[in-house]
Amino acid sequence: MKVLITGAAGFVGSHLVDAYLSDGCDVLGIDNFITGDISNLRDARENPRFAFRELDVTKMDERSLADIAESFGTPDLILHFASPASPIDYAQRPLETMRVNSLGTENCCQAALAWGARLLLASTSECYGDPLVHPQPESYWGNVNPVGPRSCYDESKRYAEAFVTTFTNVHGIDSRIIRIFNTYGPRMRVDDGRVVPNFVGQALRGEPLTVYGGGMQTRSFCYVSDLVDGIRACAASDETRGRIVNLGNPEERTIRQFAEIVCEIAGVPLDVDDATPMPVDDPGRRCPDISRAKALLGWSPKVDIRTGLRATLLDFSARLTVTTP
Ligand code: NAD
Ligand code: UDP
Repeated sequence: MKVLITGAAGFVGSHLVDAYLSDGCDVLGIDNFITGDISNLRDARENPRFAFRELDVTKMDERSLADIAESFGTPDLILHFASPASPIDYAQRPLETMRVNSLGTENCCQAALAWGARLLLASTSECYGDPLVHPQPESYWGNVNPVGPRSCYDESKRYAEAFVTTFTNVHGIDSRIIRIFNTYGPRMRVDDGRVVPNFVGQALRGEPLTVYGGGMQTRSFCYVSDLVDGIRACAASDETRGRIVNLGNPEERTIRQFAEIVCEIAGVPLDVDDATPMPVDDPGRRCPDISRAKALLGWSPKVDIRTGLRATLLDFSARLTVTTP
């Protein structure tokens, strides 16, 4: 099978590249490095089945499709993962975020139509906004501020979902959408600003953990290998055609509790910096209802938070040692 992955040099994308290569697929990665890092593809680039193109998905035109078909062959599966995902990243690149989720998604749909490829769109739990329904099932429409600081991401992902759905209705492509809930693990950028890299980096450097707004907001953290298993199952399934599937770990905890676990695993006393107020529109509670993924795919997460954090701390400590002068 030939697989095209956009956002291949990013955190999730690079783990997907490795997973499909180990399945024996030919993989073409596309990335413009806006938030990704080529070092995430170090192992993949040793593999003769891996090809890479530095390309902005918003500029993936007919000519690019012809070049890809000629040099790589016609992809059977397109996984559209290109998009900044950290609130800090998308706040710094709001227009790029809107474009990759609008134009970039349209280009991926056109590619799927031209090649007869299956398409999987990476959407997000942010589509539920600051949810009023708990836990969040796929049927919930969300509570999203269309003009707030997170709207460049939330609303462009909602548009991406609407575009894939409409394009599928008009052209009959074979598509599915996943809504990913907070996922963590090795290869997250140390400075990407999300809570896991922040807390892990702070604990390793012996700094206080920056718990925003008192830390009573909740999140549910999924280890990256569990997410990758869920994505592969969803992409391989005919049952998910034309559907939306939540993927995440339903174990919910407060950010304050999460800070305690990070310190426990790092072997440092809990030290909190609570000077930062709650960011505007920061969702108060978030937890996936994964009944659909369980029923359609027989999937549920396996990696407990302590095991996942140990692996993440190991990866971060190796990278912090290398980058600290
Ligand atoms: P990331 O920032 O590590 O990776 C995104 C990658 O996309 C980067 O390598 C970046 O350079 C690339 N990219 C961005 N715009 C591009 C463009 N126009 N052309 C080509 N490449 C481009 O983020 P991530 O955490 O790996 O997230 C990947 C996907 O999963 C995103 O679509 C995100 O919305 C979704 N997602 C992730 C999470 C999570 O917890 N990690 C949660 C919900 C949704
Ligand atoms: N957060 C925090 N300290 C940090 C970074 C984030 O308390 O240093 C909080 C943030 O306010 C949010 C939660 O942790 O409530 C998760 O934030 P993240 O940026 O990882 O992703 P989000 O789920 O908000 O998209």
